[in-house]
Formats: sequence, C-alpha cells, structure tokens
Amino acid sequence: MPADPATLLHDIFGFERFRGVQEQVVTRIIAGRNTLAIMPTGAGKSLCYQLPAMAMEGCCIVISPLIALMHDQLRSARALGIRAASLTSADADWRETQDRLVAGELDLLYVAPERASGAGFRSLLERARIGLFAIDEAHCVSEWGHDFRPDYRLLRPLLDSFADVPRLALTATADEHTRQDILVQLGIEAEGLVISGFDRPNIRYAIQPRDGLMRQIGAVMDAHPGPGIIYAQTRAATEKIAESLKGRGRPVLPYHAGLPPDVRAANQAAFIASEDMVMVATVAFGMGIDKPDVRFVVHAGLPKSIESYYQESGRAGRDGDPAVATLLWGAEDFVRARQRITEVDPERQKGERARIAALGALVETGACRRAVLLRHFGEDPPPTCGNCDNCLAPPPSVDATTTAQKLLSAVYRTGQS
Ligand code: ADP
Ligand code: MG
Repeated sequence: MPADPATLLHDIFGFERFRGVQEQVVTRIIAGRNTLAIMPTGAGKSLCYQLPAMAMEGCCIVISPLIALMHDQLRSARALGIRAASLTSADADWRETQDRLVAGELDLLYVAPERASGAGFRSLLERARIGLFAIDEAHCVSEWGHDFRPDYRLLRPLLDSFADVPRLALTATADEHTRQDILVQLGIEAEGLVISGFDRPNIRYAIQPRDGLMRQIGAVMDAHPGPGIIYAQTRAATEKIAESLKGRGRPVLPYHAGLPPDVRAANQAAFIASEDMVMVATVAFGMGIDKPDVRFVVHAGLPKSIESYYQESGRAGRDGDPAVATLLWGAEDFVRARQRITEVDPERQKGERARIAALGALVETGACRRAVLLRHFGEDPPPTCGNCDNCLAPPPSVDATTTAQKLLSAVYRTGQS
C-alpha cells in the first residue's frame, strides 16, 4: 500500500503542506475523479499529477506542448527520485523508455500531443498499466484559448479508450468560455472544475479572543447544524472537548494521531458519511479528505501559521455554500508560541518569529480579515469583503482597543527583534 498524500508531500517533495487547491486536486485524482484545475502560474500544478503518480498504481502520462518544458520537468522530477522519461524527437532512448513503461518501471511519461494521439502510442499504452492522464497547458485544446494547438483536439479518442483512467487537465489561463470548452473537449464533467486563487468568498471569517471556549464553540455549533471540524492543539484537548460536547444532540468524535489506526479510520469514515457530525481533531485530521459540505471549522487555539490557518479553515465550504471559520485565541497561545521559538535552531527562529507576527497581525486587525489573508498570499484584495467579522460589524476605533488586544500586542511584539 503506497504512502498517503501527506507523507509523500513531505518525503518526496520536501514540502510541509499543500498550497491552495493542491490538496483538493490530488485527493480527487487519487479517488479517480476527472478534474480541470485552474491554478495561477507558480501555484504548483506539476505536483498535482506528480504526487498522484507516486501514490497510485500505473504510469502517469503527461501531455505537454513543448519539448523544452518537458525536459525541464523531467529534470526536476528525476531530481526528486521520480522515475520519469519522455518520448520526443530529442530523445534517443525510445526503446528503453517503452520497455520500462511496459515493465511498470515508470512513474511519469511525458509526450507531446501529436505523439500521444497516434495509433502506435495507443497500442503501446495498451501493453502497459496507466494510472493517470495529465494534460498540461490544457487551454491549448480550445480555440477560445490564446494558444490553440489542433493536436490537443486529437487526444480525446485516446482518453476515451482508457475510460477508467482519470484525466487531469491543468492550466493557468482560462476565461469562462475556455474553461467550458476544455471540459467539453476533454470529456471532463462540470463538477470536475477546481479553480484556485486564494479567496474563498463563501467562508465567513471570525476571530475572537477566547473568553469561554465551550460557550463559544457551542454558539458556532448551534448556528450551523451541518458537519464541522474543531481543531484543538493537543490530543488531550481533543478528547476533553469532544467529551464536553456530548449531550448537545450531535454526534461528536475525536481524531488524533494517538488513536489506534482502526479507530482513526472508523471516525474519519463516519465523519465523511455524516450530515451533522462534529469532529474534534488535531491538525492530523483533514489532509487528503475531500468532504465538500463541512459547514464550520473552529480553531480552539492559535494555528501554527497563516498558511496552516488558511489550509485548515479552507476545509470548510468546499461545495461553495456558506460556511464559517472561527478562530478563538488567547494571549497565552502567543506566549507558548514564543516559548517554542527558543527550542528551534537559531536559523529557523527568524522565520518562526515572522509567522507569529503575521498571526498577531491577523487576530489583532480591526480591518478586513480576508484582505489580511489574501495579501499574505500576494493577492491584492479590495479593502473590505463584507463577509468577515470586522466587515460585518466594524470594531471600535483603534484607541478603544480591547485589553486583550493590548496584551497581545505586548506579547508578540516583544518577540520580534
Ligand atoms: P505551475 O506549473 O503552476 O507554474 P509548478 O508546478 O512549476 O507551478 O510549481 C511552482 C513552484 O512551486 C515549484 O518550485 C514547486 O516546487 C513549488 N511548489 C509546488 N507545490 C508546493 C508546496 N506545496 N509548497 C511549497 N512549494 C511548492
Ligand atoms: Mg506548469
């Protein structure tokens, strides 16, 4: 049994966490669901097929329009220890590559669309085991796109003759017309469209000082009868919170890495199937889980970073329906985070301090939360979103800052140097 996506992400690619919609795309592909991923340049599209290629049986066939692009990708994939090859006019080792493909010794095979659509290539694939078709620069399939390549249109019969093999189309640039065209041309269902950009407009962000944790959690639960996740910072805390939520008329389960694997699997399966369950979990829960109808995510304490917060809160509302993300923090969270800094290598301390300061700025701001988040990811948002606590109920002006906020400022600012 191959490793899970989170382990592969760390062990093969050396990344701590998925970025943007990567997790969603990877999860869909591993589940065998056709997908069109629209992600800005630099968002990390390659990983969306490279990781499944390592997680699934069979070779991933990557259709790519340019030999130079293919060879770049090939080099970086090989540097990661991925067994990758290409079949292009610039390659001399065709025989060997074909033999490796048939013998099941390739994770990735790059080809150009004109090669992929030929009869010879199809019969080669029929002798091999294919796990995924990745169609990179998929806008080339559309006449609406800026880069129409007629050969991309010839891919469809190949894809259709391997109907069981999932297809993943990837592009950075697609207006509404082009998107629809890509879906139709490549035979991907409309539900397969995944669009990145960091904004999650259906998530309502709320960030509050913790002044009665169970009461605050209870209020969120009462307002949202659908499934929800409560992130706690320790295994003991998940058990404790789960215990005290019993008797609220909702199924509640804990999830953390200290539970036996079969209990973890059972709890996760129950949550996925449920329409009203509350999972009280450590951050070990959620990676690679595609449950579209999560209606709320509560952080019972400070997350590790803005990136973690974005990813964890982003598990709410993947179906696009309204959802809330509530972060409950205390000044002691910052104190503890600062204490942890002293335990890491000196060269990592600066980064840790910056992470804490960024979280401090997020919880402290009286301005739009979404704007702070999006700016963190390099987007240039409008000053107000109309769907976060501060936009919905502007806080009193700066001189009326709460005691908690003043305390917080003192705490995290002294941590900067
Ligand atoms: P795209 O095809 O969308 O332009 P790439 O796949 O070329 O993006 O990836 C862009 C860069 O982002 C690469 O350097 C890649 O290693 C890096 N990257 C991808 N995923 C992650 C991640 N989860 N965390 C950190 N860096 C990542
Ligand atoms: Mg790319």
